Amino acid sequence: MFQNKRCLVTGGAGFLGSHLCEALLARGAEVLSVDNYFTGRRSNIGHLLNNPRFEAMRHDVTVPLFVEVDAIFNFACPASPVHYQHDPVATTKVSVHGAINMLGLAKRLRVPILQASTREVYGDPEMHPQRENYWGHVNPIGPRACYDEGKRCAETLFFDYRRQHALPIKVIRIFNTYGPRMLPNDGRVVSNFIVQALRGEPITIYGDGSQTRSFCYVDDLIDGALRMMASPADFTGPVNIGNPEECTVRDLAEQIIAQTGARSELRFMPLPQDDPRKRQPDITLARSALGWQPSVRLQDGLAKTIAYFDALLSQSALREPAVA
Ligand code: NAD
Ligand code: UDP
Repeated sequence: MFQNKRCLVTGGAGFLGSHLCEALLARGAEVLSVDNYFTGRRSNIGHLLNNPRFEAMRHDVTVPLFVEVDAIFNFACPASPVHYQHDPVATTKVSVHGAINMLGLAKRLRVPILQASTREVYGDPEMHPQRENYWGHVNPIGPRACYDEGKRCAETLFFDYRRQHALPIKVIRIFNTYGPRMLPNDGRVVSNFIVQALRGEPITIYGDGSQTRSFCYVDDLIDGALRMMASPADFTGPVNIGNPEECTVRDLAEQIIAQTGARSELRFMPLPQDDPRKRQPDITLARSALGWQPSVRLQDGLAKTIAYFDALLSQSALREPAVA
């Protein structure tokens, strides 16, 4: 499917985008990474630069792009609440203008385009676990809305381009994914807890830690994204890609303490506004339509992620606690 195909990955220098570039190259594709390096790092793709089938372009997807490719993976958008709330207007722009520009490119080229959507379209869900036919429960004026509503509008645009222009679209709704190449100061829970544990700092639990999330290891997620792009043209999704193994944030903290052997204490802090109480994907559709299900258990994925951060912190002064 991907052999000798020219694939554009927006957000290609980010956490998921860099793993996707690698996986596409491994399947014989030519890969063009487009990124403005807002939360991405050139070091994430540095090891790919010598590959003659790989090219990296600095570009902001809110500006139109004219290139020739055979398929588009639209992954550009900060995903951590800390980063997407840093400049909320820019977050809405990257989701909406970025989608319009990439859909326009796909329309001109008549090529398939896959959108990295999110479980955040379900907001603070009243249906549990979340199935794709649930319309969601999102506060449209809260601090998470720039991301949630931006991603919802992007889905609307994808389906309107399909209806209006018969564009071959694909939409995956990604649930919390973790693994190597998350930023150490990313603000997301897995990276925060691991970095805090490795530094022997207190583990910061927001609220009482009873809220739940379901964590998917990055390799499983990329496998799901590739299967989705390779699926029959009439299967558009949206389809949930995530690991249904649900745990509380407190359980996650205790597991990371146990696996790192840290002596960190738990520090309880205020729960951010509109923080979803629970989250678990129903992956019946991914199983039946894509033959996909996650294979990496949380304990094993955490072990690989801990090893990554351990090596990263050993190379730098990052291991030392910040000077107050
Ligand atoms: P990330 O922040 O590591 O990667 C996002 C990438 O997009 C970065 O490289 C960043 O520099 C780039 N980017 C941001 N604004 C841009 C712009 N205007 N122009 C070009 N590039 C831009 O986040 P991630 O976890 O890799 O997420 C990638 C995609 O997957 C995002 O669209 C995100 O919404 C989606 N997603 C991720 C998760 C997850 O758990 N990781 C969950 C749901 C959805
Ligand atoms: N969280 C936490 N401590 C942290 C970072 C996050 O308790 O240091 C909580 C956060 O409030 C949320 C969950 O962990 O309930 C997942 O947060 P994350 O930012 O990773 O993702 P999202 O809320 O978008 O699912």
